[in-house]
Amino acid sequence: MDIIIRNARVLTMDDEDTQYDRADVLISDGLIVGIGPDIAKGVDTTGARVVDGEGKLVMPGLINAHFHSPVNFLKGALVDAPLELYMLYEVPPLQAESVDGEYAYTRTMLGAVELLKQGVTSLHDDCFFVPVPTEKEISAVMQAYTDSGIRANVTLCQVNVKEYDKYPFLEELLPQDILDEMDAAPRMTTDELVSTYEQFIDRWHKTGDDRIRCSVSCSAPQRVTPDYLCALDSLSRQHDIPYKMHILETKLQRVLGEEKFGGSIIQYVHKQGVLSERAVVIHSVWVDDEDIAVMADSGCSVLHNPISNLKIGSGVMPFRRLKDAGINIGLGIDEVPVDDGCNLWTVGKMAGLIHKIADPDYERWPDEHEVLHMMTRGGAQTMRLHKEVGMLAEGFKADLLLVDLDTLPFTPLHNLKRSLVFCEQGSSIRMTIVNGQIVVEDGKILTVDEVALKARVREYASDIGDQLAEMKLSADRLAPYYQTMYRMAAERDVGMNRWAGPMKP
Ligand SMILES: [Zn+2]
Repeated sequence: MDIIIRNARVLTMDDEDTQYDRADVLISDGLIVGIGPDIAKGVDTTGARVVDGEGKLVMPGLINAHFHSPVNFLKGALVDAPLELYMLYEVPPLQAESVDGEYAYTRTMLGAVELLKQGVTSLHDDCFFVPVPTEKEISAVMQAYTDSGIRANVTLCQVNVKEYDKYPFLEELLPQDILDEMDAAPRMTTDELVSTYEQFIDRWHKTGDDRIRCSVSCSAPQRVTPDYLCALDSLSRQHDIPYKMHILETKLQRVLGEEKFGGSIIQYVHKQGVLSERAVVIHSVWVDDEDIAVMADSGCSVLHNPISNLKIGSGVMPFRRLKDAGINIGLGIDEVPVDDGCNLWTVGKMAGLIHKIADPDYERWPDEHEVLHMMTRGGAQTMRLHKEVGMLAEGFKADLLLVDLDTLPFTPLHNLKRSLVFCEQGSSIRMTIVNGQIVVEDGKILTVDEVALKARVREYASDIGDQLAEMKLSADRLAPYYQTMYRMAAERDVGMNRWAGPMKP
């Protein structure tokens, strides 16, 4: 036996919602091998770490099922603006140079450490590369996840169409000199991207004791060519890995679908044959009932990012309609600057609150069990890991947390699940175990020197400030055209409203 946790309260999140007031958890070779009252009695403790669980809760590790690590350094750095403007200041469409390996490693590690310390044991990173992925940057990201101890599933979230082709109206609005610059920006061909993916999967998939996995992403269907959209589906099928796609995050994307694809982008991807049980529709805010029916039929999952949707004013995802259709939903931070934090507990709390302003029928609001399910098993399913992580059961991977119940968020403790969703914010985590390894204990990350890591990040900070100032100059030049485009889309009647306010400005 490697780890024996004795006499803890246990929340398994299994199908029967099994909970124990007092039980032992046995961990061996990275797996949970036993859960139940008094089962540690008589077990040989030689070489095992015995953990006193008195006054603690053992629960499944949280799953941040949507994240973009390349902006991990931008906490609190970006203004609130609608997605289409916000992205100009975040991912400059005219940036020409890749970052170096050490920068990418440090940036990735910073996010992994913050997540692990708050009890996130798995993350899905839709990792984009500006302007294009390089072997150096990909390796740095994957090595950081390997070294951190977190369970990571990573994509190369790359676009391959011209910037103005991703939006409605923009080609007509932009002056010729800017169109020319966008034409000249580096883009990889479908063959180059597929070959990069093949090397990526070959090198990294199921490495690091199977903690590290690869999946595919088109970023968004309108941001790639149809042949690349379909090539990614083939890779996803071949390796049985998730296929991530941002769809109908904003009203402008609903309008884009009408302008470019003659209808909803969900219907477009369905017609392309890429909406499957491996597909993960990120956001799904401006979907209609016909979209939801097609999504439910396909068996795809949805990724809910409520703080991101609030920060950049995207609207409120139709949670209950998706749920009623039987669609699996996971939760994500989305990214550091669009959350201004890196905390899945606050995302869970927001998921428990936001739907109340979108539906007067209080019996349709998400309850605490549904929120916890999204934070654990729902997220696991989006990563195609639901038979391995997300709940506590014999044979599942030992990804779990020890939560101190002798803390203020749990004092007094009336309803465990409500306290986890609405009171806890990550400060009560005493131990994070991933793949049977103790990665965080008593507030300390054990896999990396956090003091040195933070010092290195601070050294980068002044450069980042300069880069942001430079990015702002280029973004300010483009912003007036994007503002006009945004207003044109916002004013259109698209037959639904996902804002709590009026349908039009
Ligand atoms: Zn995203």
